[in-house]
Amino acid sequence: MTGPVHTGRALVEVAPGVHVATSRVMATTSTVLVGPRGVLLVDPAWVPSELDALATTLDERDWRVVGGFATHAHHDHLLWHPRFGDVPRWASPRTAELARTERAALVEALGDGWPDELVDLMGRVEPAADIDEGIELVVHDGHAPGHTALWLAEQRVLVVGDMLSDREVPLPFWPDDLPAYLAGLDRLAPYVASAAVLVPGHGTPTHEPMARLDADRRYLDEVIAGRVPDDARLEDAENRSEYDHLVELVRTSG
Ligand SMILES: [Zn+2]
Repeated sequence: MTGPVHTGRALVEVAPGVHVATSRVMATTSTVLVGPRGVLLVDPAWVPSELDALATTLDERDWRVVGGFATHAHHDHLLWHPRFGDVPRWASPRTAELARTERAALVEALGDGWPDELVDLMGRVEPAADIDEGIELVVHDGHAPGHTALWLAEQRVLVVGDMLSDREVPLPFWPDDLPAYLAGLDRLAPYVASAAVLVPGHGTPTHEPMARLDADRRYLDEVIAGRVPDDARLEDAENRSEYDHLVELVRTSG
């Protein structure tokens, strides 16, 4: 990774035992779930200095990491740091498979400037169907095959990975698969409806999860209908180019 050195940002408790740090890069979130046996780290992100700073914060609070979880097989969600410890790291079976078979491309996507040690640790996840009582894994194929949300029933928190973001528009790409994305939203819908807090992989956690689901369904419905969505996210140039990609996908899958 080239460019400025980013420092880690503070952990914010968004629900009891659920702490979120937000990266300066693409507002990528790291979620720290504090349980009775220790900490489960979900998608710790993003640049090496921020991973290191997160480890320092955990040390300062005397929070021991007992496991990791990767929501999906994209490079910015498969990271780890030696200071988190040599503990089990899990993902859905499909995510774990892709982390292995797509490793060369994922390493490439990290870009330059990553210490070998962190490159080596990226994506070392093992398949799990279940990780902890109290955490339900909600697996679907929207955005990435085997994409997994974590549902914390007690706190009514949904850690949703790269879906339902206020920052990114829906990205049903690589592989381009709009039906899988729509099915993913349907799979998530009952959890979103029950959630008090939703934590997206990029952007801002919210106490109004349904508004995120409504926004993404509206966005997709509009594009499918051949209209330009009235969506504030399209003011961002990157999101506009993702919109163009989706228009093309809808056109060619006619
Ligand atoms: Zn992603």
